[in-house]
Amino acid sequence: MSDVRNVIIIGSGPAGYTAALYTARASLKPLVFEGAVTAGGALMNTTDVENFPGFRDGIMGPDLMDNMRAQAERFGAELVPDDVIAVDLSDEIKTVTDSAGTVHRAKTVIVSTGSQHRKLGLPREDELSGRGVSWCATCDGFFFKDQDIAVIGGGDTAMEEATFLSRFAKSVTVVHRRDTLRASKAMQERAFADPKIKFVWDSEVAEIHGESKLSGLTLRNLKTDETAELPVTGLFIAIGHDPRTELFKGQLKLDDDGYLKVDAPSTRTNLTGVFAAGDVVDHTYRQAITAAGTGCSAALDAERFLAALS
Ligand code: FAD
Repeated sequence: MSDVRNVIIIGSGPAGYTAALYTARASLKPLVFEGAVTAGGALMNTTDVENFPGFRDGIMGPDLMDNMRAQAERFGAELVPDDVIAVDLSDEIKTVTDSAGTVHRAKTVIVSTGSQHRKLGLPREDELSGRGVSWCATCDGFFFKDQDIAVIGGGDTAMEEATFLSRFAKSVTVVHRRDTLRASKAMQERAFADPKIKFVWDSEVAEIHGESKLSGLTLRNLKTDETAELPVTGLFIAIGHDPRTELFKGQLKLDDDGYLKVDAPSTRTNLTGVFAAGDVVDHTYRQAITAAGTGCSAALDAERFLAALS
């Protein structure tokens, strides 16, 4: 079985590249499928990253990912900018099929395919990402000191983001499609009690404005169809995430929200020799450092699993 790899890693964000670095340094010669369009993961779409330890003055997201990639490559990780389109993970030897239909075999597979934040689907949304438009208050809140901010959504994440942001912001306007929140009672009460947070009910964002930076929103009331301008320099979109687990349905166990289930604190999935790390597992922390941390754990779990085989 000379063509059987020790490790195949699917996904190339902080989790995948960290798993690649560790398995490469353990001489396991990992093969990493980075994804065809989005190699480097979620941080390729942002600007300053100020909370990844080790970069005192911060670092641009794409630079951070280029460094991680080069570091993994330096120790012998084989990186392929391609999508995996099918997997069979149930047997001792797992198979992974790339977009050209080539089947790759391995004793272990690390899944680190991340999650996709839901977008509003509006013009300017992508262009202004990292320039006022954000999906992560923990990551970007600090940049919005004394500014007027809008948070879109009505669930727990939206309320958590709104209350977190009110520490920095001049004002936080929560825009929600309905006239009641989905968030838990405790979260709602905290948000309602915060003097900096106000609510715009039954409304959606109709337009996002700004050239090089966000300058404001047009809101539409869904009951009256009336529009109103909201001048804000920060827009936090908190309408949910979709873990990229389509490929694994029917093989790996998923939780009710579609995230991969692992035997925490390990990264073991329900299938022997298959490990999972990063945002595809995590709906709680969703940070580059936590993804990198679990990528390291997955590499060590795979390494120990392989050692026990021999
Ligand atoms: P991802 O980074 O999402 O990477 C997953 C990778 O898997 C992608 O490259 C994807 O293409 C690939 N993939 C998926 N399916 C396949 C397949 N079938 N075949 C091959 N490849 C596949 N966190 C911070 O700590 N600090 C910040 O400042 C910060 N800013 C952010 C700004 C933005 C705009 C966003 C969206 C997120 C930000 N985050 C930040 C969160 C952070 O980016 C994520 O928590 C982190 O990237 C998750 O890492 P991951 O490796 O799990 O997944």
